[in-house]
Amino acid sequence: MQITLKRYRTVEDLICPYLRIRRKEIAAGTIRGWDSDGNTTEFSIREIVDVIRETGIWGYTDNFGCIHYWHEKATFPSILEFFAHEIAHNTGKPCEDKTEEELRADEYAKVAVQAYDFALRINQGPCKPFLRHE
Ligand SMILES: [Zn+2]
Repeated sequence: MQITLKRYRTVEDLICPYLRIRRKEIAAGTIRGWDSDGNTTEFSIREIVDVIRETGIWGYTDNFGCIHYWHEKATFPSILEFFAHEIAHNTGKPCEDKTEEELRADEYAKVAVQAYDFALRINQGPCKPFLRHE
């Protein structure tokens, strides 16, 4: 599958079609999700938009291999990690369980960031490694 990219100008432009809501629904809307302890909870869409904006990059991959994304001021490792994660959703055999699939994609992202950092370390060019090693 050929992977394509579609960039969005604002977080709101991206999250509204993702959640299938209209822009005016962001202010009062909530979605159900899981907190860091795995408990079901309600999240304010407004807060989610704010967290995405702080992160600097966010998006999703649709069923046709298109990565829909927004970014602004994200660090290079964050951009690399984001795209590796999204590409992973189109690579190999996805897990049926959504949480496991996200964890699988996160592992791909870690591999990509580590591999890129090692490549920078042995490259003689002007780029500098970005991971801290002991
Ligand atoms: Zn994902």
